[in-house]
Amino acid sequence: MYDPLVDSFPRAAQPHVRSYWQAHTQTKLPTAANVLPEHADIVVIGAGYTGLNAALELAQRFQQQVVVLDANQLGWGCSTRNAGFAMPGTGRLGYGDWQKRCGTDVAKAIQGEYQRAFERLEQHLAHCPEQLQVQRGGYLKIAHEPKAIEGLKATYQVLQQFEPKTRWLDAEAIQARVHSPQAHAAIHYPQSFGLNPVLLHASVARQAAAAGVTLVENAPVQNWDMVGEQQRLHTAKGRICTTKVIIASNGYTPNHLHSSIHGRTLPVLSSVIVTRPLTRDERQAIGVSTQDLVMDTRTLKYYYRLLPDGRLLFGGRGAIRGKDAHHPRYARHLLEALRGTFPALRRLSQEPVDYYWSGWVSVALDNYPRIYSPTAGVYTSMGYCGAGVTFTQIAGQRLAELAMGEKLPELPFYQSGLPKFPLPHLRRVGQWAFYQLARWRSL
Ligand SMILES: Cc1cc2nc3c(=O)[nH]c(=O)nc-3n(C[C@H](O)[C@H](O)[C@H](O)COP(=O)(O)OP(=O)(O)OC[C@H]3O[C@@H](n4cnc5c(N)ncnc54)[C@H](O)[C@@H]3O)c2cc1C
Repeated sequence: MYDPLVDSFPRAAQPHVRSYWQAHTQTKLPTAANVLPEHADIVVIGAGYTGLNAALELAQRFQQQVVVLDANQLGWGCSTRNAGFAMPGTGRLGYGDWQKRCGTDVAKAIQGEYQRAFERLEQHLAHCPEQLQVQRGGYLKIAHEPKAIEGLKATYQVLQQFEPKTRWLDAEAIQARVHSPQAHAAIHYPQSFGLNPVLLHASVARQAAAAGVTLVENAPVQNWDMVGEQQRLHTAKGRICTTKVIIASNGYTPNHLHSSIHGRTLPVLSSVIVTRPLTRDERQAIGVSTQDLVMDTRTLKYYYRLLPDGRLLFGGRGAIRGKDAHHPRYARHLLEALRGTFPALRRLSQEPVDYYWSGWVSVALDNYPRIYSPTAGVYTSMGYCGAGVTFTQIAGQRLAELAMGEKLPELPFYQSGLPKFPLPHLRRVGQWAFYQLARWRSL
């Protein structure tokens, strides 16, 4: 599998990952251009949610001539591979963390920004004939062991100032919904919902194309140089010149794509298994309904949801290196975690899974993304730490505004650049040590 820290760029013309979403979704994507234009006002690298939302905004609101390049088919990265949890937030910091760092007003302003992200998501839903196949019922953040209850309760108490509609579920209340020995209490976030990521991606792509954006597939940027203020991007389909480039390649960004962003995120593999459809008895035994989105309190979290056809999607962290991503041990590891969560599904854990896939998410050193200009004429948004389905919708809009010289809201995401990892070439060693520690702690 392509590895951003090893390969110079993603190879062109690779098929979409064999995911449940690709196998079970029929949708119409706009036709990509056959020929790469020689010039554009703005070039966007990456046709996922971030890049397409930026392009849509640039074309529709600022009347820019925009070309979006993807190394492969549109949406080849995380935007068609994720679990489809639409949740308020991004990165790993909650309102309590923001309140401590920046005060209550900033934390409330961040909450407002997350609401704007939800509003854009609803706009994309309205442009999708299948309504993104949403499953509304909310998100359950579950204490997976008794000693996690206290911390979760403290989170809930802080949350009341920001999300007053969230509810506390004690052991009895959560057991009535999720029959698992690893469910001891939970916070219920009613606004969150499950969606089909492929439909969301297609909805944004269609709107961008309708606004006049040129979409180019199989055009990995292989080299990048400058002549005066002209940025020249050399791709597998030829060269394109511009004065402004948006880097929206996120977790898939090749290590040396541009010196201004080198070493500022860690690409991390996130993996998912999808089981066969559960029988009625199995569904009754686990309790979870198709309306629930569930995530636990582990440092290396597990998350799951029941898909519309009764299959269980179960996700967590995967391999460290791209070359190990498809090793069966990682699917097995997720199956074992599933069996620990639902011993009633013991039989299932002996069967092969129907789908197993992975994707690269980008992790920021200090746990939250930035939308910024790392150098003149270059703009980027990265570091969502695996939480981007909702936030990318607004991040793309902000990225477009930044590129057009507009002042962004005074929020931490928009006020500084991504910090560089110390000794970037040792990022994976640090990741390995972190994984060992987290697994040892959760024993
Ligand atoms: C298994 C998994 C489950 C997830 N589940 C959730 C979830 O439930 N909820 C949630 O909020 N988030 C989730 N995420 C994270 C979420 O999917 C991402 O944060 C989001 O999709 C990022 O979108 P993006 O547009 O920034 O990047 P991507 O969608 O990753 O797009 C980047 C694009 O850049 C292209 N690219 C890279 N290099 C080049 C180059 N040199 N030239 C041209 N193109 C290039 C790639 O081909 C790719 O298409 C999950 C991620 C994974 C992998």
